[in-house]
Amino acid sequence: MHTPANPFESDRAFAAYADGALVFDGKKILACGAYATVRKEHPDAELLDHRGAFLLPGFVDTHVHFPQLTIIGSMGLPLLEWLKQRTFPAEAALGGVQAAETAADIFLERLAANGTTAAVVFGSHLFDAQDAFFRKALSSGLRITSGLVLGDQNLIPELETTTERAQEETTELISRYHGAEHIRYAVTPRFSVSCSRPLLELCGELMGGEPGLFFQTHINENIQEVALVRSLFPECRDYFDTYEKYGLAGRHSIFAHNLHVSEGELSRMGACGCSVAHCPSSNAFLGSGAFPMARHLQHGVRFGVGCDVGAGSGFSLLNESLRAYETQMLRDDGYRLSPKHLLYLSGAAGAEVMGLADRIGDFSPGKEADFVLIQPPRSSTLSAVLEQTQSCEAALGALFTLAREESVVATYVAGRRVFSHELD
Ligand SMILES: [Zn+2]
Repeated sequence: MHTPANPFESDRAFAAYADGALVFDGKKILACGAYATVRKEHPDAELLDHRGAFLLPGFVDTHVHFPQLTIIGSMGLPLLEWLKQRTFPAEAALGGVQAAETAADIFLERLAANGTTAAVVFGSHLFDAQDAFFRKALSSGLRITSGLVLGDQNLIPELETTTERAQEETTELISRYHGAEHIRYAVTPRFSVSCSRPLLELCGELMGGEPGLFFQTHINENIQEVALVRSLFPECRDYFDTYEKYGLAGRHSIFAHNLHVSEGELSRMGACGCSVAHCPSSNAFLGSGAFPMARHLQHGVRFGVGCDVGAGSGFSLLNESLRAYETQMLRDDGYRLSPKHLLYLSGAAGAEVMGLADRIGDFSPGKEADFVLIQPPRSSTLSAVLEQTQSCEAALGALFTLAREESVVATYVAGRRVFSHELD
């Protein structure tokens, strides 16, 4: 099952085959369709028989934090308190190379184990930890866009940098990793709250330094946070302006959350072609708010989903997409999503956000073979539901509602297996 077109724009965006096949030549997709037809066209192809499993495009996570796995489930606090009490101490604890390598191994393995093949990763504030993360990301085979997180105020002393150090360390990491295999660098100020004007200015300069760099940060997540930004940057029109002013809003910019957003901001976001990472489980967990999806669509602002671990409730983009659906059901102006929208949001939409839509996101011939195989565990609620479903779309709805990490049996990036149950 895949979405060769955008279901927000087309009624014919969903393609599914009850008995389907995907042919790839080691890296690229040659064909996708009904097994009988495809087999006739490729009689000599080696057969990997996954009868009983569902084949979906690899999931694309547009926002997740490397150093936050250990604080998943840290309940009871809104954003600014959660950051101060739970997040900053946990991120500071991940300083040493060895601890960071172990954490990176676990983090990357969990991404792959959840069927995620590409991710935009908020890194560490600490150079050695971020360097270790990039090293591990390179050998994981996953498509990772990430960067050293920058902040020089309103954090805790262990995480704060200076403009000079930020420039030196970022430049070094860009030269080591940007463009290496599936790795790309994203200039990553934490959020305007933690950044002085000279630091934001530096981010703008860094973005101009090397072609293909990405930019990621947070925006309009929580009401108190928005008010704090207004008081810190009285000269700016709004939160978005604190980035726009420094040349940080463009086609390669990804802004996480964007819940409490004005019409003016949305219209400028649509015009500059930037993207939003929609993180519904995190938005609910921290009580931040409910994503105004219809307004983003009206203004043509591109968005994908992000699990936002550690505020999010796990690495599963099946779960995250379901949360996106539920959020819209709860809003008066909610966009009525269907299973094919969730399929699009979990893969192709993220590929658009990451600037990889020409390479991944669906199974069109010529694209690279990034995919996930999902098989319902025996004697599970999911398998019981699937035995009764009458259509591929109904099965897809059941997968998004019930399938999680334990149902993912294999994950492939560019035709190469990066995770399977057998490897455990
Ligand atoms: Zn985040």
